[in-house]
Amino acid sequence: MKIMKFGGTSVGRPERMHQVKDLITRGDESKIVVLSALSGTTNSLVSIGEALAAADKFLAKSRIDELHAHYNQFYPQLLKSDVAKEKAQEIIKEHFEFLNILLKISFNEAINRDILAQGELLSTKLFHTLLEELEIPAVFLSAFDFMSIDENAEPELQKISDRLKAILAQHPDDSIFITQGFICKNHLNEVDNLKRGGSDYTASLVAAAIQATSCEIWTDIDGMHNNDPRIVDKTRPIAEMSFDEAAELAYFGAKILHPASIWPAQQFNVPVKLLNTMKPEAQGTLIKADVATVGVKAIAAKDGITAIKIKSSRMLLAYGFLRKVFEIFEKYKTPIDMITTSEVAVSVTIDDLSHLEHILEELGTFCSVEVDRDQTIICIVGNMVSESKGAIQSVIDSLIEYPVRMVSFGGSRHNVSVLVDSKFKKEALQSLNQDLFSW
Ligand code: ADP
Ligand code: ASP
Ligand code: MG
Repeated sequence: MKIMKFGGTSVGRPERMHQVKDLITRGDESKIVVLSALSGTTNSLVSIGEALAAADKFLAKSRIDELHAHYNQFYPQLLKSDVAKEKAQEIIKEHFEFLNILLKISFNEAINRDILAQGELLSTKLFHTLLEELEIPAVFLSAFDFMSIDENAEPELQKISDRLKAILAQHPDDSIFITQGFICKNHLNEVDNLKRGGSDYTASLVAAAIQATSCEIWTDIDGMHNNDPRIVDKTRPIAEMSFDEAAELAYFGAKILHPASIWPAQQFNVPVKLLNTMKPEAQGTLIKADVATVGVKAIAAKDGITAIKIKSSRMLLAYGFLRKVFEIFEKYKTPIDMITTSEVAVSVTIDDLSHLEHILEELGTFCSVEVDRDQTIICIVGNMVSESKGAIQSVIDSLIEYPVRMVSFGGSRHNVSVLVDSKFKKEALQSLNQDLFSW
């Protein structure tokens, strides 16, 4: 059994949903199809939540109506028969009635997560209606019946696996299953989600849960490119990469994959394929355990980074100092991305600023602290980059024009990371693209 995940743009237009239908009905292998919300929907739902949080019911209502109008236009182009159209109308009515009821009750975070879940519920129900109309047998699975996260928002892979296997066992003769990406239940049994872009994570978790033969991520581009195509000219798709390389790229900002979406597939050695719904014949990118290629493969950039320089004249190399520092970050559940040290200072970067004030306060009790905001981590990834001759030299040469705030090298064999002020990001990426790839 394989997993086929389709992102927002792949289901964002009626004709694209028809293309998805063509893709999932090819071949004999049974599959779990994971769908995102129609493109633009989750952004709209976020803005509805924001309007409600700001108690601006007028704005919330106008955004709900706008989104409703979009769906009312969508389904008549998707479906032909009156029966199917009526069913779609009912589905849309149910979900928009729910959103409209929220205008009348008091808002809270749990309700906000309920709002965000509407997109994937709508897309999967509408797609399932299309399959019904075309008499393509498919089982509709609610992600709420098997996808769950614990109190630290970590997916409960074993439980997901047990539940999903039990559900699948009830349908031994079916070969197409449709479910929602992104959404799940949390430890309080409330509706929750896997964070923006989380449908990729769902796909990988489901692939791991059933030890799928492959996990296909269908999107709007022909695979992982060597650099962010939204920022840099002349990028190219990469045919093959290792799980480690892909995980670094995803974590350090390659938007094509959710930051955490590689580990589940990697743990169960399920190959991940990045494919283009609009160009299904394109080779795409295959992500698997081992790849033979050596050298720089791709570059990603992660914005919104804050660097904290922690200085103490007495201490740095004294035992226990770093532990003391790291314990503070641990206490506030704030992951550190990059670390560099010198005799008298250690610099770390974080992207979650929710507890910055408390962290600074506690650090301030035993050292001096400087903070630089609006930084970008540029991550240069490739197999054995750290062992390739001159790799670090060419990165530094290429960035000669830009002040580099931190460099991290040698932590893994496939990564060199540099920190620059975000205002230099675009030019730095462009320069690296020209200098590190020979085309
Ligand atoms: P989906 O809605 O299918 O999940 P996303 O928009 O989340 O799609 O991801 C696909 C987009 O990621 C591409 O359209 C592209 O603009 C962007 N992207 C950023 N970095 C890369 C990269 N290195 N390779 C390919 N695409 C990238
Ligand atoms: N719909 C969600 C989002 O836009 C999840 C996803 O598309 O992966 O973030
Ligand atoms: Mg995505």
